[in-house]
Amino acid sequence: TPRVFSGIQPSGNLHLGNYLGALKRFVDWQAKDVESIYCMVDMHAITVWQDPADLKKSTRELCAGFIAAGLDPEQSILINQSQVPEHAQLAWIFNCVARMGWMQRMTQWKDKAGKNAQNASLGLFAYPALMAADILVYHATHVPVGEDQKQHLELTRDIAAKFNHDYGVDFFPLTEPVIEGAATRVMSLRDGSKKMSKSDASDASRINLTDDADTIAKKIRKAKTDPDALPSEVEGLDGRPEARNLVNIYAAMAEQSVEQVLADVGGKAFSEFKPMLADLSVAKMSPITTEMARLMQHQDEIDKILARGSERAREITAPILRKTYDIVGMVAPV
Ligand code: ATP
Ligand code: MG
Repeated sequence: TPRVFSGIQPSGNLHLGNYLGALKRFVDWQAKDVESIYCMVDMHAITVWQDPADLKKSTRELCAGFIAAGLDPEQSILINQSQVPEHAQLAWIFNCVARMGWMQRMTQWKDKAGKNAQNASLGLFAYPALMAADILVYHATHVPVGEDQKQHLELTRDIAAKFNHDYGVDFFPLTEPVIEGAATRVMSLRDGSKKMSKSDASDASRINLTDDADTIAKKIRKAKTDPDALPSEVEGLDGRPEARNLVNIYAAMAEQSVEQVLADVGGKAFSEFKPMLADLSVAKMSPITTEMARLMQHQDEIDKILARGSERAREITAPILRKTYDIVGMVAPV
């Protein structure tokens, strides 16, 4: 059976892009007959500074978000990355397999390190090797992610292939990225050329899963657009990134194709379309927001779910790590 793995950083500000590009699709995968592991990747989060108290809160909030969105902790394994030590252990091996040049080419590294790369953490540079370990320590076959993670998944395949080649084994699978749907790259509401991100300094750039109905409506009303009416054909979105973004968001939430949406709203002005989008967003997000807030009142239960998840996860990861150590030539304890 396919084994699905994916992760989200508990760095706060869980947003609509995370929901449509990742979380909602995890829930769709759960409906299929697969084994799945979903991870709060706290070790990735600390590659940039995280306030310790905020990190704990965000980790529990993310877990609440997973469950509120529809993941069932009995069916899927929900874990906090740092509770499953094999992720970090395999990452070290992969640090020794991956090449500096591979990491330097990563656009996420270039974007996040910015001009002051000398001052970025070593962890931020090595991020993709840890991500490869997250996936391969389960021998996962499918990884549903947003478009921005495509390059990291290609690197994951490169690491698996180089490991297999260097050690003359056929041990790590070449994992399939699963990047599909209308919202694999939700853009900032303020700038149609930037993806919506947790780390964007502007709160108006994103819809947070914790925003109330008024805030959602206000952010959509203020979203950047051009002055023209909506087109009735997809080609009419060419060169109109902000219009395309709002239509994609609508399509993903309505579970319709972009063609279907444009057939309905083509010719409308944004002043008419934006309230429709706001209503749909509120209708889809509010139940999740409310359930998240309710679950956050039961922190001990969230902590138990994570502890139980890591126990189940380690049944998979421990044997794979042991075998990896053996392949590499590390002497096992007797
Ligand atoms: P950060 O800015 O701190 O990197 P992020 O918003 O990119 O945060 P991540 O935790 O890095 O969030 O990513 C979690 C998942 O959400 C990944 O699968 C990623 O591809 C997906 N994702 C992130 N942003 C978007 C987006 N704007 N549209 C669609 N998917 C997204
Ligand atoms: Mg990211």
